[in-house]
Amino acid sequence: MSGLMLLTSNHTSHNDCWIFNCGHQGIVFCVACALEQLEDPGKPPVKKKFLLTELLKVVVDSDHELLRTLDDEPQVSVHLVSVLIALFASSDDGIIASAIEVIVEVCCQLRNEDLVYGIVNQVTALCLQDSSFQKSLPSLTLIGRLLQSIPPLADLLQQSYRHFTDYLLTGLKYPDENIQSAITYILLHLAGGHMTNICKEPLVKELIKNLLAIIASATSSELTMNSLGLLKKVVENECSVHEIMATDNYGLASSAFKKVLLSRNGIHQITVVQCLTQLVLAEKSLKQTTFTESLLSADIAEFLFECLATTNDILLSSIFCCLLVLTDSLNFFHECHAVYGMDSVVRATNHAMKLKNKDILCQGLELIQKMLNRYMFMLCSCIKYIRCFI
Ligand SMILES: [Zn+2]
Repeated sequence: MSGLMLLTSNHTSHNDCWIFNCGHQGIVFCVACALEQLEDPGKPPVKKKFLLTELLKVVVDSDHELLRTLDDEPQVSVHLVSVLIALFASSDDGIIASAIEVIVEVCCQLRNEDLVYGIVNQVTALCLQDSSFQKSLPSLTLIGRLLQSIPPLADLLQQSYRHFTDYLLTGLKYPDENIQSAITYILLHLAGGHMTNICKEPLVKELIKNLLAIIASATSSELTMNSLGLLKKVVENECSVHEIMATDNYGLASSAFKKVLLSRNGIHQITVVQCLTQLVLAEKSLKQTTFTESLLSADIAEFLFECLATTNDILLSSIFCCLLVLTDSLNFFHECHAVYGMDSVVRATNHAMKLKNKDILCQGLELIQKMLNRYMFMLCSCIKYIRCFI
């Protein structure tokens, strides 16, 4: 692409402070000309993509020269971001992704609160106005990216945009994994230490039900990861953890956990096993057993035994830890789980020995000991019971 092609007929009226050396030798890049062309619906997508790539390079690589100029000209920053947000209406995913990238980079480097608040205001209003999750996907992706890069932004959304977060929750049932993924990613960053940061108490129950349904049905790795991340926040919180253990969630919870255990994705499996352990421990601390019993009746132990055939030491340790907690439940021994799984546990412990990881080996040996002790005790009780009939 020649240098002249990057400039518009208005270029002579543009201040020198917007001119930068392009990544391509000898080509001049003018931010003002680039914005004019990005605004022009007649310009081909391929040129807009090129301009966005160059704009990103200038933002990242111009030794903060552009950022210093933008800092002095806040109205230009607002215009630049508005032009980029307008590109969200493009039918070209590459243009949308590049526009989001530039906005996030400008916000992170400029650290201008007013600019970020203005963007949040603009895109949340756009989402509510469009009332179409499909149309709002770029805005939702941008909000998620901004929350990831600027964590204090979560406070603003929790306090001043409650109507928007209430709207987001309705999108968890939207039949599109990209949208569910963008929403769960936002909620994950909004949750912080408490689910009521996302929604009021009565809605938490609905949120958890939808979340379990998403985990049970998700096909994309990204959606599974985001929803498991949110689930982890739920189980870490004392108030909301009870909601998962509600009777009407038993079937959904075991389906969701088993589906992830079968996935063969180490990170997903580790997350779900850790959530499972936390839930069983939470129920134990309440001196209740029905949720754990429902999981065992749904053969969750067998699924854990299957996952022991792994070379991932964190997964191995997480499963040993979960099984150790489950062995405190009498049902673990009543339904032949111990008999079925002993072979897998011995093999995994043998593998832990080869890994020369003392902690995992100790967990494995403790599990074998616990299973054998309880199993022997039950066997003796059985023999005594049989002798009564002899
Ligand atoms: Zn120009």
